Amino acid sequence: MITTVKAGPYSVRGLSLGGVYTALHVPELDVAFDCGVPLRSAAGVGTLCLSHAHADHIGALNALLGIRGLQGVKAPLRVIMPAEIVDTLLVALRAMTELQRWPLDIQPIGVEPGDVVPLKGDLSVRALRTFHPVPSLAYQVVRRVQKLKPEHAGMPGAEIGARRKAGTADELFETVEHPELAYVTDTLISALEHSPALLKSKVLIMETTFLDARKSLEASRAGCHIHLDEVIEHADMFTMPHLVMMHISQLYQPADVSPILDARLPSELRARTQVLLPDAGWPA
Ligand SMILES: [Zn+2]
Ligand SMILES: [Zn+2]
Repeated sequence: MITTVKAGPYSVRGLSLGGVYTALHVPELDVAFDCGVPLRSAAGVGTLCLSHAHADHIGALNALLGIRGLQGVKAPLRVIMPAEIVDTLLVALRAMTELQRWPLDIQPIGVEPGDVVPLKGDLSVRALRTFHPVPSLAYQVVRRVQKLKPEHAGMPGAEIGARRKAGTADELFETVEHPELAYVTDTLISALEHSPALLKSKVLIMETTFLDARKSLEASRAGCHIHLDEVIEHADMFTMPHLVMMHISQLYQPADVSPILDARLPSELRARTQVLLPDAGWPA
């Protein structure tokens, strides 16, 4: 029942139903986001980023760690999370370890907004502020590449090679960040205005929990969630190549969603928008 959305160079695989479970895996980045349901295919992932500790986002962590053990993965899972929740999560995992009599170890990495954690190769992930009733974060995966400074553009390779040999090549280069993919969930939409860099991502995965008047804008904001009314109001902000909506409320059936988006989103934005939805009804 796992759904895959292809967004540019990335596959966003997983399950997401607002308030019930959200768990995503982007294999090309070797990163998973949240763990509201254990994704067997993501159990060996390099890094898991947790947005916050509501049950629909972390409730299946011990199950995922159990599957990881079954698959014979020895390295403890790196889990990036809001710094405020690390101690309590470790207490919970210790309790589950005691119940299971089998170690459910992780490598915890507590972060605050602005912190950057290296991933594989030239990738890193940056934590950004979100607005929810509990400690919470968005994440943006960036690719950091060394590029010739503009004043050295066109320098012949042989000269660069000579400078490298002489140990003076570093000053020719600057580090440029390419924002690849962002994950923004369980937040007021003001998180995007607070961190506009999120909007520069090639792929923006974003909760759009409520889609029409079945939930009022006021009630959506009171729960610190994003309503489609707000996406429409701020449509000119959403210029990224790929917008992936998820965390849709169970007020809607999967088949309801596309017709609502077709009717309500500006057509140019609709063409760049996909939704993480199962083909048939919501799984159990
Ligand atoms: Zn949620
Ligand atoms: Zn939440």
